[in-house]
Amino acid sequence: MRFFRRSLITLGVAATLPTVVFVAVGAFYFLRAERARVEADTLGRSEIATMLVDGRLRRDLAALGVLTSSVDLAKGNMREFYFRVQRVQTANPAWRTIVLIDALSGQELFDLRRPFGEPAPLSEVHAQALKDMRQTEMPMAGSISPPPEKLAWVYAPVSGEGELRYMLGAGIEPQAFQELLKAVAVAGTTAAVVDRHGQFVARTLNFETRVGTPATEFVRKAIKEGASGFYPGTTYEGLKNYTAFHTSPWSQWSAHLAVASTAIDAPTTWSFVAAALAALGALILGGTLVLLMARDMAERRRAEETLRQSQKMEAVGQLTGGIAHDFNNLLTAVIGNLDLIRNRVKDNERLSRLADNALEASRRGAKLASQLLAFSRSQRMAVGPVDLQQLFNGISGLLAQSVGPAIEVRMELDPDARVVMSDSNQLELALLNLAVNARDAMPGGGKLIISARRANVVDRHLPKGDYVQLSVTDTGVGMTEEVRARAIDPFFTTKAVGHGTGLGLSQVYAVTRESGGSLYIDSEIHQGTTVCLVLPLAPSDAIVVPTAIPDTAAPSEAEPEPSTKSAAVLVVDDDKLVRRFMSESLRSLGYEVRDTDNGVDALILLDAQRFDLLLADFAMPGMNGADLGKAAQMKQPGLPVLIVSGYADSAAVEAALGTARQLRKPFDMAELGAAVAELLRSREP
Ligand code: ADP
Ligand code: MG
Repeated sequence: MRFFRRSLITLGVAATLPTVVFVAVGAFYFLRAERARVEADTLGRSEIATMLVDGRLRRDLAALGVLTSSVDLAKGNMREFYFRVQRVQTANPAWRTIVLIDALSGQELFDLRRPFGEPAPLSEVHAQALKDMRQTEMPMAGSISPPPEKLAWVYAPVSGEGELRYMLGAGIEPQAFQELLKAVAVAGTTAAVVDRHGQFVARTLNFETRVGTPATEFVRKAIKEGASGFYPGTTYEGLKNYTAFHTSPWSQWSAHLAVASTAIDAPTTWSFVAAALAALGALILGGTLVLLMARDMAERRRAEETLRQSQKMEAVGQLTGGIAHDFNNLLTAVIGNLDLIRNRVKDNERLSRLADNALEASRRGAKLASQLLAFSRSQRMAVGPVDLQQLFNGISGLLAQSVGPAIEVRMELDPDARVVMSDSNQLELALLNLAVNARDAMPGGGKLIISARRANVVDRHLPKGDYVQLSVTDTGVGMTEEVRARAIDPFFTTKAVGHGTGLGLSQVYAVTRESGGSLYIDSEIHQGTTVCLVLPLAPSDAIVVPTAIPDTAAPSEAEPEPSTKSAAVLVVDDDKLVRRFMSESLRSLGYEVRDTDNGVDALILLDAQRFDLLLADFAMPGMNGADLGKAAQMKQPGLPVLIVSGYADSAAVEAALGTARQLRKPFDMAELGAAVAELLRSREP
């Protein structure tokens, strides 16, 4: 069982796992794709930012370029040139100033922020720019000057006589670049533009304090090592970022845009939530699968168990039915002949006592045979409405007697559960069997409770409908699980030889099953036992037929009517002993008897002579009793036919009977006489 459960769990996991793996892989790929998309987008934006910045720088350089071809400059009219430059500056509002640098002397000839005629040494920014300019002699973007000046510089060369003469520089307000950056960066993310030496030209965070100062080592390392790409880092504010950057090959300025962390994290979180949800769903599904399968298998096991049980019952039923049939024949002969003997030795007291003893023993044998047959299927049950109240009333005396004074018997009947569908005789016997079991389980006395109420939970294998739960509870020794599992097996007994037949619960089981119900046993060792019969509730309009008078109650001593005597009876039975007993008995009752062992001879006899009654065994080789009866009635219409049969044939007999009457084996002389007399009487008008 444990192995079974484990394999089920394995199965469930096996069913769940592919889904979980699939979801996880799916989430992983989705995450990667999403991340790649966001990265590509940010990298694209950084390139756009550098293009915008370059555009701005080139525009400024173009404006500056106009001044480089000035005649005043060529002629050395510096004062005139100064004022001309001043006019150009006013046309470009973002330009804070313009400087003219003498490339030969390395001096700053003027700066519009100062009055003309006050040359000054070069600042570090200009000195560096001049160094670069000497190599290229091309208009170029310089770098930003450190605070407090904070101007982004562009420079244009002025050549003369094949060499670099001057360098014009325009100082641009960094706000111009700040605006460009803001237009490109995703709101809420960190972004910056840095110049060729890694100083901030624009920055979304703390622009005022950071502009003109060096960027973090992460930024500077990135631009030193590549032209574009991604790098992780931490900002001065302590923000951990994953940043995309792009450097312009022309200006060497670069734009840095942090990849939006929500764009990275949200898909991650989302993917994990989705994966977790999917995994949970898969687990629930797998779990449900396991549960369903476990339930299914339990049900199948139970169904198999039920089937096995009923097959076993069937087999044993057939076997015992067959045995009982033969046994009944024997007993019929034994009882009949003993009866005859007893009649003949009436005046010898000793012999009659011996005959009585033998008769008594044979009757006990007959009782055993009837018990054997009680659960054999061939014992046809007359299922109909049975009033439990009537039943209880009828057997209460017998019950008290069978269990003895040490056991207190209580019956509780719910009026809602009063009438069930069953066979009253068999149900009575079942209750007696259960009471006897209870008595055996309570040698020191105890309580026996028989109760009936509506069943609220009913076996799922039973057809839908209302059921009554008839339980018999004792406070006895109880059963171990092994005993409980086998208790209803035919011939299973734990009792000493001669004390138990092992047929009690088998009979109870057979009754409930034939009634369309089921049986279950609850038992706990030293606590007691409850045997529960689940029986169908009779429909409310069912009419209860009063309990039939048991066969044994037939008036065995009744004298046959004298008027019917001397009638001619034809006895047909293949069993010599039984035939002889029947013939002898009838002769001794004063009938004229002819007998034969087969149907064909019987028909010949019927041709030769008129008979008043045909007494035939049912089960005979060749023609059976019922067929013989019909054939005989063709020859002699109105001929009464009495069929003798064992229990085992009863179903077949009843089906074939037609107008014939039936007498069940075993019977004694008096019963035979009574049946014959009654049939003859009913024939007479
Ligand atoms: P028998 O009574 O002839 O042994 P049953 O079929 O009636 O046969 O019972 C089979 C076995 O089940 C008994 O031998 C006994 O071990 C067990 N049993 C039945 N009823 C009870 C009970 N009420 N308490 C304890 N054990 C019981
Ligand atoms: Mg018993």
